[in-house]
Parts: sequence; structure tokens; C-alpha cells
Amino acid sequence: MEKKNKLEEELVMIKKEKEESDKRLLKFEIMFGIFSLAFMFVLILIAANLDMPTWLRVVLIVVGFAQFLAMMFVCIRIEQVAGHYECKLCHEKYVPTYKQTLLAMHIGWTRYMKCPHCSQKSWDKKVTD
Ligand SMILES: [Zn+2]
Repeated sequence: MEKKNKLEEELVMIKKEKEESDKRLLKFEIMFGIFSLAFMFVLILIAANLDMPTWLRVVLIVVGFAQFLAMMFVCIRIEQVAGHYECKLCHEKYVPTYKQTLLAMHIGWTRYMKCPHCSQKSWDKKVTD
């Protein structure tokens, strides 16, 4: 009996730690996104306003867009694996595939996806518990 309780306690601890690291990851996602967007604007502003050869302007703009695009893929990956999405209809919690996360319409962290449990599409919220 004693042993069982200890195991249960440990499981609760592990679950808590996972929840906290998921929350941290989602905060990082926002930070990465903001920094990347700001960096893109800075590069574009430099390219538009400073005196430089045309090829350098093009390089700055391309690098600005490319790093932002790459960061978006990283952010979507974080969103896919950190925590779960909760089905609005059956309340099942699930982790979608990367493709599903990438292609789904979304408003913030709420995505319009098909639930693997009830097979219905709904606006499913990101949850970390
Ligand atoms: Zn469902």
C-alpha cells in the first residue's frame, strides 16, 4: 500500500513537471515569434533606408523573410508537441500531427481540427494539463 502511494505521488510529480515545461515552451514560442518578427522588420528597414548596393538590399530582405518563415515552422512544432488540444465536442485531449497543426485554421492557440476520438471538426483549445 505504502509503495503504491509513493508511485502515485511520483506520477503526479512527473505530470506537474511536464505541465510546467509545456507552459515554458509555449512562452518561448511567443518570444521566438516576436524576436523573429522584429528581426525581419529591422532587416527590411535597413534595406529600405540605408545606402547600399541593390544585391545587398535583396539579400537582407530574403534573409529577413527566410528566418521568419523558418521560425514559424519551429513555433508550429512547439505548439504541436507542448500540451494537448482539447476537443470542444467530446473533451478528449489529443496531440495532432505536425501536418494537421500546420494546415489548421487558427486564432491564437485555438485550432480548427478534426478530433481523433469523435472524428468531428471543431475549434479546439490548447491545454497544458
Ligand atoms: Zn472529439
